[in-house]
Amino acid sequence: MNKTAVRVTIRAGSVGILLIMAMFSGYKFALSYNNYDTPACKLPYGGGGSYLTVYWQDHPSYPPSGFYSSAFINGRSAWNGAPTPVWFTNGGGPTLGLGALPPGNPGVVSYSCVGQTFVASALWVDSGQLSSYPDAIKQKVVSHELGHTVALGHSYNYAVLKTGATNVPSYPTTDDECAVNTRYISSSWPAAWYCFI
Ligand SMILES: [Zn+2]
Repeated sequence: MNKTAVRVTIRAGSVGILLIMAMFSGYKFALSYNNYDTPACKLPYGGGGSYLTVYWQDHPSYPPSGFYSSAFINGRSAWNGAPTPVWFTNGGGPTLGLGALPPGNPGVVSYSCVGQTFVASALWVDSGQLSSYPDAIKQKVVSHELGHTVALGHSYNYAVLKTGATNVPSYPTTDDECAVNTRYISSSWPAAWYCFI
């Protein structure tokens, strides 16, 4: 299912969800995620169902290789397939690569705030530090860092943006999707893009 198909499905279901809210007056939005270190800025977003585009390119000197080639492809596909406007597309920056990192940092995203705009300059994964971990954890690190390039912080919940190597998924969960949709929410969005958890 491609991104467009997902959106059509969500919009078609939004009327039903609004009706349920009207029937149960005590129902309210509950945000399932809790970003506890959210960056002070975020990506520009046009709203109205447009893409929240993240341009990327493989690092020219340290491109993902071996297992990580698939991990980056699968991570981007998982984010693109989630019911959020996130859309990773090849177009230059941030660069994605493998390289040696300080101990304790198997993956990092370097970023800066230019005004209110989040600018991610690079995503690095250290294959050396991760060499003893199973592929599911390596995939988690890649998917996690990709979430940071969308200017997401960490979550305490069951989310790919949760830190650590225990009880973590390899791909975005509902919690991560809620993080995107609440961070970039706009009144012009389909109602179903709020989180009802
Ligand atoms: Zn992190």
